[in-house]
Amino acid sequence: MNRATAGTLLAIALMATGAPAAFAQSAPDLDPRIVQLVGQVSEDRLASTLRKLETFGTRNTLSAVDTPGRGIGPARQWIFDELRSYSVRLQVSYDTYRIAKQGRITRDVEARNIMAVLPGRSSRRIYVSGHYDTIAVVGGQRGRNSGASQQQPVPIADPDATAPGVNDDGSGVALTLELARIFSQSGIEFEATLVFMCHVAEEQGLMGAKLHAQKARTEHIPIDAVLNSDIVGNDRGGNGIIDGASIRVYSEGPEDSTSRELARYVQRWGGRYVPSHRVRLLSRPDRFSRGGDHTAYNLYGFAAVGFRESRENFARQHDARDTFEGVSPAYLAQNARVNAAVASSLALAPPAPVVVNEKGQPTINRAPSGYDAHLQWKASSGASAYRIFWREAWGPDWQHEMLVGNVTEVTLSNTLIDDLVFGVASVDASGHESVVSPYIAPMSTAVEAGDVKTVSQ
Ligand SMILES: [Zn+2]
Repeated sequence: MNRATAGTLLAIALMATGAPAAFAQSAPDLDPRIVQLVGQVSEDRLASTLRKLETFGTRNTLSAVDTPGRGIGPARQWIFDELRSYSVRLQVSYDTYRIAKQGRITRDVEARNIMAVLPGRSSRRIYVSGHYDTIAVVGGQRGRNSGASQQQPVPIADPDATAPGVNDDGSGVALTLELARIFSQSGIEFEATLVFMCHVAEEQGLMGAKLHAQKARTEHIPIDAVLNSDIVGNDRGGNGIIDGASIRVYSEGPEDSTSRELARYVQRWGGRYVPSHRVRLLSRPDRFSRGGDHTAYNLYGFAAVGFRESRENFARQHDARDTFEGVSPAYLAQNARVNAAVASSLALAPPAPVVVNEKGQPTINRAPSGYDAHLQWKASSGASAYRIFWREAWGPDWQHEMLVGNVTEVTLSNTLIDDLVFGVASVDASGHESVVSPYIAPMSTAVEAGDVKTVSQ
């Protein structure tokens, strides 16, 4: 049987469900509450947050904490107080660690992430995040990029040197604060718990995020998704190319990793609620020789993606020139709208279905004929239907989808599971959809499989 035939049979199955083709294809019913949330993103508020962050001169993790109005101490207190001012529903706290002298940390230092929790009906967590610390390096990021060597940049020795960090990562912080404000004041009861997180010590090796992710892993805190925005406020590349109509989203592989599924979700739902802004997915963890806090969560097993502006101006990064003049609040607002659409869609949706058995094997087989696609999954609480997705087993994006009602298995006759990738998402009565759970074989290694034994001579 060739693929064309398989496609025909699948199309017949699609019609048999009674779902109108238009519904299966596109034009979903958008949730008016999410439309309203997205519409509340304020360019003016984002701009005033950026201007305020700039006034601290530096927010270097190692800068003075007791100089009035300057350095990380007053900066973190301002962010804390700002979050507290939004709503009594928001639980604001410092997530504090003592980091020992190591690497770029030149002395023992108290490091505080700032987190604001908006409790949902379940303890599953969705993160919206940025990092509030800054750094200035010798020659700035441009000096490093334009040089022939790929040596690590050298931080300016004085941690109190000017490093305003309006874009890196004041933009991610302003976005995080804006969403904390809108979500906490919305009156919406979310299914998942939302965490608005401003990380510290990103510039010393993602330390604040690593410490938090490590703790979450140890304490079995269920983090479902981390949206991390870092350098998302400028639409003018240093080479003169301007792009204010798209955002890059980086995610680590392999192709059906939890982070890749999250990235696809960002494109699907960000695109539906903010069609004027294009989400560009990149199938790699981050830019060359650059890092971000989403990677810290990946290291501890959590799904996380990194948002990056489409055109960077390296001359302003990690430098005293990272000022308000170098950002576009209108562009940042578009990126905030995409984040708002995705975070609220995720937080209103049921949990993604479980598509593996107790041994971690995918619950997909060729029953009953031996040539069919038979998919099974465990029911998700709150789901009233499921949507299955599939694509050729060579290609990044889902190509087909079908709503299948409140069932926990489906059979597509004469459909080769070996030639297609399948996945399933939970859908609630209002149409909120989870991330897709893909059916993938667990990766094995030679070590697990065991070496081939040979006869000794
Ligand atoms: Zn950064």
